[in-house]
Amino acid sequence: MLAAEGPRNALNALEEPACFATEEARESEHERFMRLALREAERALKDREVPVGAVIVYGGRVIARAHNQPIRRNDPAAHAEILALRKAGKKRQNYRLGGCTLYVTIEPCAMCAGALVMARLSRLVYGARDPKAGACGSALQVVNHSALNHRLQVVEGVLADECAALLQQFFRERRAR
Ligand SMILES: [Zn+2]
Repeated sequence: MLAAEGPRNALNALEEPACFATEEARESEHERFMRLALREAERALKDREVPVGAVIVYGGRVIARAHNQPIRRNDPAAHAEILALRKAGKKRQNYRLGGCTLYVTIEPCAMCAGALVMARLSRLVYGARDPKAGACGSALQVVNHSALNHRLQVVEGVLADECAALLQQFFRERRAR
């Protein structure tokens, strides 16, 4: 299972063997976009929403960014990933998002993982695992499930500690309130 492997191994399993420098460059690109997703997650934290942020990249450019807003929008589906997918669909004028990469700070839940498959997204890069609800191999396996015909490349563990730290901060503050 790809999600169980580190970023470098997961990439190697799916792509042509790359020289070390190229691999390094790709990792730093992942970190650059994950930092933007982290910035989104911080905005959610400020709004007292569960701090998850997402950005979608197409052709090397960010075409959508979003953060968790279910409370503010009174919308149980307003997860960062769903909001980002909607924005990206509008931008691309397409309900299919082939060629796009979604960066998200936390492993997607079952709803979001299902939406990534529906969107025919090419690649998912996430930060920290979610052992309780993650649907990319942790609690469930929706992404790359053998019964589904769409495969997407999964890279996990990019800036995982920073992504997890935001969540921990959120739950610590919530307990203190
Ligand atoms: Zn979700």
